[in-house]
Amino acid sequence: MENIKTVSDFNFKNKIALVRVDFNVPVNNNQSSQVIDDTRILYSLPTIQKIISDSGKVVLISHFGRPKGKCSKIYSLKFIISYLSKRLKIPIQFSENCIGKAVEKKISELKNREILLLENIRFYKEEEEGDENFAFQLSKLGDIYVNDAFGVSHRTHASITIVPKFFREKKCIGFLMEKEIQSLKKVLGKGIAPITILLGGAKISSKIAIIENLINLVDYLLIGGAMSYPFIKAQGGKIGNSLVDEYKDFEALKKIIEQYQKQKKTKIFFPKDVIIANSFKNSAKTKIVPIHSIPNGWMGLDIGPTSIKNFCEIINFSRTILWNGPLGVFEFQNFSSGTTSIAKAIVRATENGAFSLVGGGDSIAALKMKKYETKISYLSTGGGAMLESLKDKILPGIKAIIS
Ligand code: AMP
Repeated sequence: MENIKTVSDFNFKNKIALVRVDFNVPVNNNQSSQVIDDTRILYSLPTIQKIISDSGKVVLISHFGRPKGKCSKIYSLKFIISYLSKRLKIPIQFSENCIGKAVEKKISELKNREILLLENIRFYKEEEEGDENFAFQLSKLGDIYVNDAFGVSHRTHASITIVPKFFREKKCIGFLMEKEIQSLKKVLGKGIAPITILLGGAKISSKIAIIENLINLVDYLLIGGAMSYPFIKAQGGKIGNSLVDEYKDFEALKKIIEQYQKQKKTKIFFPKDVIIANSFKNSAKTKIVPIHSIPNGWMGLDIGPTSIKNFCEIINFSRTILWNGPLGVFEFQNFSSGTTSIAKAIVRATENGAFSLVGGGDSIAALKMKKYETKISYLSTGGGAMLESLKDKILPGIKAIIS
């Protein structure tokens, strides 16, 4: 990974850069696709600016939403044109097609320092299928391929893993990708100790491989949210009606805990107490109980005060922190204090010099609820891609640049 090429290794003068970006941003559909959160766009500007300042030409490829291989007005990328041209102070040209004679002609007329944005790449079913011929057609559009789309680099889609094959040594990552890789490297063993990873959310199945991989790699692993209940159940605890996702291999969970107990480096912590509710709503009746003894008819919806205190203490003395996933149903105000207290502790640790990396839509939304988003060292632009990286995997999109 040390020798992966970046945009800094190329001079783009008179060259056409085919740049895969991730402009899949949240929008307000009621107000003609107004961008609600522009983080992904903002983070990809330095790459585009570098190519322009070299006097190169830029062809931008992105997806938006899940149009499932069909053209559809609501998934058009046209709304990005005015947004991007305002930010870059350059007019943005647009192509309705991603492959074929019409787009090839447009690109042949493109001058140095000009930008062409292609329509949503997912209007072609071949994109998600990783189709070779489609990828070859796309590869004809540029001289140098740049991947700056971290948010989809865990997918084996045509524009991510197949297109780069046709560029031999003329391919690289952009500045956004470089920052994501560097930030993850700081957490996965190369950062300043103590290193703490905090995982929350509901879906345990997608995070089992991560929990297994982190043994012996980091100093503290804190697990909260609905993810903790299957582990508590696996150890014989009573979790009442708390949420357990489709993952039901409690024996495997028991073994994971035993593996953690066998080694000394990584300490794993679960919440000690929880706020339970008698129904899944904000106004439900609540009680605070030990996590191992949740009565039937009740469900744990947030971590309790003792758990908040314990988790925050660990965060306070950590020097490197990664957080992905809420600690409770933070969407309900009465069950959001675990998540917001953790967010606050991470901000405080960052102010005291720790490196913090936060990813995942819910964790970033929780930070934004408290206007903490600028107080974190790095906000990842890809929750899923970040989780995949924690499984000790080189993402397919990164592999495609190295090979
Ligand atoms: P995930 O997609 O796995 O990151 O899960 C995120 C979701 O987990 C959020 O919508 C939270 O409301 C939900 N969540 C977190 N803790 C709990 C809990 N204790 N019970 C039910 N849902 C939870």
